[in-house]
Amino acid sequence: CGIVGYIGQNDSKNILLNGLEKLEYRGYDSAGIAVLNDDGINLTKVKGRIATLKESVDNSIQATMGIGHTRWATHGVPSIANAHPHQSTSGKFTIVHNGVIENYQDLKREYLSDVVFVSETDTEVIVQLINKLYEKYQDTAKAFREAMSLIKGSYAIGMIDADDAETLYVAKNKSPLLIGLGDGFNVIASDAMATLKETDQYLEISDKEIVFVKRNNVEIQKLDGTVVERKPYTAQIDV
Ligand code: GLU
Repeated sequence: CGIVGYIGQNDSKNILLNGLEKLEYRGYDSAGIAVLNDDGINLTKVKGRIATLKESVDNSIQATMGIGHTRWATHGVPSIANAHPHQSTSGKFTIVHNGVIENYQDLKREYLSDVVFVSETDTEVIVQLINKLYEKYQDTAKAFREAMSLIKGSYAIGMIDADDAETLYVAKNKSPLLIGLGDGFNVIASDAMATLKETDQYLEISDKEIVFVKRNNVEIQKLDGTVVERKPYTAQIDV
């Protein structure tokens, strides 16, 4: 149960994989990464350790944004199908999640009775719900915000919209997640330890905030859309 994300100018794979390795202490029954380039989303998931994930990733793929996850299963057995990232059936949305969604069965019943699920996770409900709300609003930020106000429980979330190579969508409630600030790039991580090689400047996110992370800009909002100003702090490098 750890998350890493990157949006910038360089290839994201090794930043994600090395970051995940640093988060393995948090739990690791399976792992995966998703990267986005002009060919679309490229997804790699394995059961087991990050070392196995490293061997499975196609090194020829270059992509300047991506998200990664190490899983500690709470809903559904450790398996490739239950490993993150999870995608909406449409393929438009790809998500990583740490935590537990308490009302996932209610949400499934109320909003997603026509959706065919491919995993047993609570996480897949989040990404299918975002997709369902997107179908209604045709607006990813709005769909993301509304989904975050509907889900109950603990979550740290990173999401990619396959049609938007400029934004990483982020949300947090009762699970750790930080934004790391760089020059022409930004990162997200469950623990600054995962991304200290990239930057020592971090922004804390409060519970029930959502964040739009771009290459040169980070915007934090409350669930009602109010913009929040926050100053970065310097993480201690000598770990
Ligand atoms: N509840 C999610 C799952 O079982 C996330 C677990 C985690 O935090 O790693 O897939």
